[in-house]
Amino acid sequence: MKILIVEDEIGIANFLRDGLEDENYSVDVALDGKRGVELATTRIYDLMLIDWMLPGISGIDITKQIRKLNKKVPVIFLTARDALHDTVMGLEAGANDYIKKPFQFEELLARIKVQLREDHEELTTLSFDDLTLETTTHQVFRGGTEINLTKKEFSLLYFLLKNKGKVCTRNEIIKEVWEINFETDSSSLDVYINFLRKKLETKKSGNMIQTIRGIGYIIRERE
Ligand code: CA
Repeated sequence: MKILIVEDEIGIANFLRDGLEDENYSVDVALDGKRGVELATTRIYDLMLIDWMLPGISGIDITKQIRKLNKKVPVIFLTARDALHDTVMGLEAGANDYIKKPFQFEELLARIKVQLREDHEELTTLSFDDLTLETTTHQVFRGGTEINLTKKEFSLLYFLLKNKGKVCTRNEIIKEVWEINFETDSSSLDVYINFLRKKLETKKSGNMIQTIRGIGYIIRERE
């Protein structure tokens, strides 16, 4: 898997390259926008990490140029800005995701993996432990027994499973599953999580949806 990093701060660029190489990705670094466009448009990458604030050509313009030639390659924005407007502009330019500096490397890595997984797999069957979810038939099985879920419960489980191993924040879940922002009252999320837990629970394996207090939920192996 080959990743392009376009980042003018050498410290951050090196930190990212070293971290990604440790994860067995092959990495090219461009330290300015011009070189970034040159590499992005002449070589093949599985994913690109592009800084927003670059001398010469901005990350937005690079992304627009990439999208003219390649609609599929996942692009993740690195941005120090957190204004909603900037984020929206980045996504409209064709970025798939963004991460705000400063960030934890693990968080970036998790997002990279999500992008690469979505790019390379048709997510028709998702599984965890003895649970499987079939998107084509909208069926869920645990240990071979079918579990009946409502449409909303199914969407919620699909989102958590798609991101298994990654913490899903309350806002992310609500935005994705309910397709709205309801920041003032997100209590129905907890209600649905409880419905799901009850339906999925087995004597053998107990709860698979873990609560991350104050942040959200995650499906992962218990430590
Ligand atoms: Ca920069």
